[in-house]
Amino acid sequence: MDLIVGGGVVGLSVAWRLARAGQAVTVIDPAPASGASHAAAGMLAPVSEVAYTEEPLLRLGLAALERWPAFAAELEADSGLSVDYRAHGTLDVAFGADDLAALEELAAFMDKLGLPVERLTGRECRRLEPMLSPSVRGGVLAGGDAWVDPRRVTAALLAALEAMAVPLVRRRATGLLDGAVRLADGEVLTGERVVLAAGAWSGELADVPVRPVKGQIMRLRSPYPLLGRCVRGMVHGSPVYLVPRGDGEVVVGATQEELGFDTRVTAGGLYELLRDARELVPGVTELELGDVVAGLRPCTPDNVPLIGPYRRGLALATGHHRGGVLLAPLTPALLEGEEPELAALCSPQRF
Ligand code: FAD
Repeated sequence: MDLIVGGGVVGLSVAWRLARAGQAVTVIDPAPASGASHAAAGMLAPVSEVAYTEEPLLRLGLAALERWPAFAAELEADSGLSVDYRAHGTLDVAFGADDLAALEELAAFMDKLGLPVERLTGRECRRLEPMLSPSVRGGVLAGGDAWVDPRRVTAALLAALEAMAVPLVRRRATGLLDGAVRLADGEVLTGERVVLAAGAWSGELADVPVRPVKGQIMRLRSPYPLLGRCVRGMVHGSPVYLVPRGDGEVVVGATQEELGFDTRVTAGGLYELLRDARELVPGVTELELGDVVAGLRPCTPDNVPLIGPYRRGLALATGHHRGGVLLAPLTPALLEGEEPELAALCSPQRF
């Protein structure tokens, strides 16, 4: 029996894949799907989301992106729920000469990797996305990028687990023992292996180098399709993105703040998001406000997740930082020792 501590997109994906493979699993989480996975935009964008120096992360992201179509199809079949998987690419746009130069670097890097990329003039960008600002001077279309709705993904994972009668213990873990978990009321659940997947809170349960990085993000509602694909750009020196959903929702994200376990939504955070999003797509301010949340990304010192055996009776599946949704299909495979080269990149023994 595997005891999975944490029911975010990572823990639930691990539980679902293990259960599907015939393994006995139990998930422990007082509030499943309420952490970073509830906040996430759901971009599956391995190249534009990482710095060029982060090669391990890029290799992980590309391998995970390849797994997404089958993962989404199987999850939808098991749960009977849609995850709103879309593969229409990301349009990165530029306003000034510096931004254009940075985009050309991105395009050249993607060329080198053999990934589909198109360089576009400002006019071509607006032909693709008519709601873009007239000030956009050029762009790069990363045609291979995709996105999902993470809230639908976790709902589908929970439904698939329920259909397989996987136990979900809605209580807080307070201690990890060798192959066992102590709960807040003192009860001890015993298994063979504990998998720690408690996201930004993982460091409260084991001595692991994971810290929270706050992100504020906003959901707007549009009565008409505002955008056909994810749109990103640098505004006032910080990145902003808009992600359209099938149901008319438009996600605007996200701040990046080192404030510990602070999950307050602030006026300043919202102001920055809306101000920057309006530079990209002026029409966003006409939309109805949906919700605004702050999530805590689980971050490691090198931004690469911690996946694999840690000590006797304990394995880790945590530290996914900005890419936990993207890496959800790959994480269970790495945990089970598939793709050893990629698994080695994520070894928890590296610190
Ligand atoms: P979480 O989703 O945080 O889940 C951890 C779970 O552990 C929670 O349900 C919590 O209740 C539980 N838990 C905590 N403590 C305990 C305990 N003591 N006992 C039992 N359970 C416990 N990633 C992408 O790939 N694409 C994106 O576009 C993207 N956008 C993002 C935007 C924002 C604003 C943020 C904040 C993150 C974004 N991310 C994105 C990152 C992504 O959300 C995370 O990497 C991912 O959600 C991490 O999943 P997780 O399951 O490890 O953690």
